[in-house]
Amino acid sequence: MHAIQATREKRIRVSEEEKRLIDQVILPPESTRTSLAQALGVSPAWITKTITPLIERNLITEIGPAAGSGGRRAKILGINPAVGFLIGVDFGATSLDVALSGPDINLAGQKSLPINIDAGPEICLKAFHELTDALLQEHDLCREDIRGIGMGVPGPVDFAKGRVISPPIMPGWDDFPLPEAIMEQFPNSFVLVDNDVNLMALGALRQGRAHDAENTLFIKVGSGIGGGIVCGGRVYRGASGCAGDIGHIIVQRNGPLCRCGNRGCVEALAGGMAIAQQAMSLAKSGESPLLAEALQQKGGALSAVDVGAAAAQGDVRALQLIDTSGKYVGEMLTHLVSFYNPDVILIGGGVSKIGHRFLNAIRQVVLKSASPLATRDLRIEYSSLGDQAGIMGALSLAQQNLFYVG
Ligand SMILES: [Zn+2]
Repeated sequence: MHAIQATREKRIRVSEEEKRLIDQVILPPESTRTSLAQALGVSPAWITKTITPLIERNLITEIGPAAGSGGRRAKILGINPAVGFLIGVDFGATSLDVALSGPDINLAGQKSLPINIDAGPEICLKAFHELTDALLQEHDLCREDIRGIGMGVPGPVDFAKGRVISPPIMPGWDDFPLPEAIMEQFPNSFVLVDNDVNLMALGALRQGRAHDAENTLFIKVGSGIGGGIVCGGRVYRGASGCAGDIGHIIVQRNGPLCRCGNRGCVEALAGGMAIAQQAMSLAKSGESPLLAEALQQKGGALSAVDVGAAAAQGDVRALQLIDTSGKYVGEMLTHLVSFYNPDVILIGGGVSKIGHRFLNAIRQVVLKSASPLATRDLRIEYSSLGDQAGIMGALSLAQQNLFYVG
C-alpha cells in the first residue's frame, strides 16, 4: 500500500469544497471571509456555508481582527492551533535541519546538526530524533502532539511510497522504509518524504517570491545541481517522481567527467563541487593569489563562497570562474526555458551565496539565447528564502496534507 494511503487515518477528512477553502486559508497573506470569496471567485454565502462546519469542528478559527477593517470588524481566519503541531525536516548531504511549527507553519523553533548522509538512515535518524526531542522538550510537547511530518532528502524519491530510490550519494538509504520507521515513534502523525529540491520549490511557492507565479523552476546549485518544477501552482513530480533531475544535462561535449559517468554535465562544470575543485587548482597553481591566500588560511579546502569572496576583491581568475560557471548554468536553463516557458526561475542552494555576478552571468545567457517571447516576462532571481527554502517546503508539505478529501 502507498504510504500516503496508509497514513489517511492520521489525517483529517474534509469535503472537496472544504479542502478548497482550507488550501486558500493557509496561503499568505492573511485571509478574511471577504478576501477568501474574492480569491476563490465564490459568493459570501458559499464561504459561510463551507466555513461554518469547519469552525464547529475546531479546524478553522478566527485568530483576530483584520487591520483597518472598519465598522463591522472582519476577522482573520486560520487553521485552529488545536489541530496539532508539525515538524519539517531537511536532510542535506552534510547537515540536518529540523523545525517545529503549529499548523500555520510559523516557526516555533528550529535546530541543526552536522551529519554525513553517507552514514546511512539508522545513524541519520538518530540525529533526527535527537533534534526533535530537544525541540519538543523546549516547547513542553511530546511526540503524540505531532500531527504531520514533512521530510526532504537529497536524492530521488518515490513520493507515493516515501522511499529513496537508487540515490547516487546516499549509500544504505535505497528503499529504506523511512515513513514507517518514523511513524513508529510518532503515533499520531503521518510522514511524507520528498526530494529536497521539490520541497525548496514548494517552500518558495508557498512562502516566497513564487507565490503568485504559477509556473516556476527552482534550481538548486549546491554541491550538485537539481531542479524543482512548479506547474499550475503545484509541484510537478513526473511519472516516477524524478522530474527535475537537470544536473546531468550536457552543456559541453567531451567536457570533464561527471560522477554519473557522462562527460560535460552542467553539474560537473558549474556545481559547487566543480567550482570548488577549479578554485583549488587556481589556488595551487598560483594563478589566483587571493584564492591561494584563502587556501592557506583554511588549510585544505575551498568552497564556491571563497570564490565569491575573492571575486568581490577583484581577483581576475575568480571573476572568470564565476562568469563561466554562470554561463554553463545559463546554457542549461536556456533549454529549460524553451521547453517549459516558466514565469520565474529561482536559484537557491549554497552556490547562490557566491554573489550577484553569478546570477547576472546566468541571466545574460538566457536572455541572449532563449526565444524573445519566452523571456519577455521571465524573472530570474535568487530565492528569497535562502537556506530556509527546504525547511519551509517540508513544513508546507505537512501542512498541505493535514487535510484530505474523502
Ligand atoms: Zn552527469
